[in-house]
Amino acid sequence: MTVHFAPDAASFVVDSTSHLDAYVASRSFDKPTLVMDLDRVEAQYHALRAGLGRADIHYAVKANPARQVIARLVDLGSHFDAASRAEIALCLAEGAEASEISYGNTIKRASDIAWAWEQGITLFAADAEEELEKIATHAPGASVYIRLVVETSPGDWPLSRKFGCDRDMALQLLDLAQSLGLNAVGFSFHVGSQTRQAAMWAPTLDVMAGIWQAAIDAGHELTLLNIGGGFPAFYGEAIDAPTTYAAKVIEMIEARFPNVSRIMAEPGRGMVAEAGVIVAEVMLVSRKSDRDMHRWVYLDIGRFSGLAETEGEAIRYQFETARDADTMGPCILAGPSCDSADVLYEKRPVLLPQSLRAGDRVLIRNTGAYTSTYSSVCFNGFPPLDVVVI
Ligand SMILES: *Cc1c(COP(=O)(O)O)cnc(C)c1O
Repeated sequence: MTVHFAPDAASFVVDSTSHLDAYVASRSFDKPTLVMDLDRVEAQYHALRAGLGRADIHYAVKANPARQVIARLVDLGSHFDAASRAEIALCLAEGAEASEISYGNTIKRASDIAWAWEQGITLFAADAEEELEKIATHAPGASVYIRLVVETSPGDWPLSRKFGCDRDMALQLLDLAQSLGLNAVGFSFHVGSQTRQAAMWAPTLDVMAGIWQAAIDAGHELTLLNIGGGFPAFYGEAIDAPTTYAAKVIEMIEARFPNVSRIMAEPGRGMVAEAGVIVAEVMLVSRKSDRDMHRWVYLDIGRFSGLAETEGEAIRYQFETARDADTMGPCILAGPSCDSADVLYEKRPVLLPQSLRAGDRVLIRNTGAYTSTYSSVCFNGFPPLDVVVI
């Protein structure tokens, strides 16, 4: 699991696969469980920190809001990007300073803006007129950055289209923010989650740099560039090591934004995914007919209990069983609920041992990001993903 670390990050490599594995092997679980290794989160923080140069790290809380993860990151000096009142409250409760928390959701309830402002939060995101008006009313004089839309995302899990505005509107919003008495400090964007190679950022950065320059030319004194997330996790396809990746991204930024005084990065997935493993169980192995080419393998975890990012087969997790030395064969992998959307991988079947059967344990690697948060309360009576932090 650590094979993709570059030599420059070697000092941060901890052999936590064996730590996680030893823990998991010594216990039985009666429901799908995410086991998170805090030391692995710490190693990843150091690896990203080493590559990100002068950029501030604002961990994107939504990737994994486990209390212990936030507390460890506070200890390490991380800052935070929160999307809601509850996420802000969590960071404050774990010891983060209000001045280290950005309220980065572009869609905020007015009363939550007022509450955040009262707590001392001073940095807000916006991508629309109404949002600026809400902020000006409920957090008068606050600092705001305008989120830019990324039209073509190179990420495996794009965040484009729903968020951000185009160049002309962004320039208008900077003017509006100033006229509303806000402090318009800069721009943000998100290249798309799980952007596997740093080089894939280049086209997006070119566009963003053009907009930045246009704002400067229009007389705006921009100081902040928030580059969002996108830092990848290893799911089987090649990725750059975290330090190398982060350093390449920052190098590309410095080349395109020579005058920016403050850079923020908001890694979520890249911070926590590889620190977690899900322990799941095979519920059933079957075929639909004697002539059926493919086995169906049903797990006790599915689309609604933590594996939401299998939607469109966008994120392809890696599975491991105790029988992996046996002959492998393709199967369609599905969750346990009575919903036909609860199929994880079918277009590209998954290879699992032919000998696999109900009751076998399945480990799902590098699942520390966007799993516990995507788990439904208890759809169909199947328990939500349990979380254990070690
Ligand atoms: C989700 C999110 C992130 C984290 O993205 P990753 O690709 O997981 O690193 C960062 N910034 C914002 C605004 C987000 O919504």
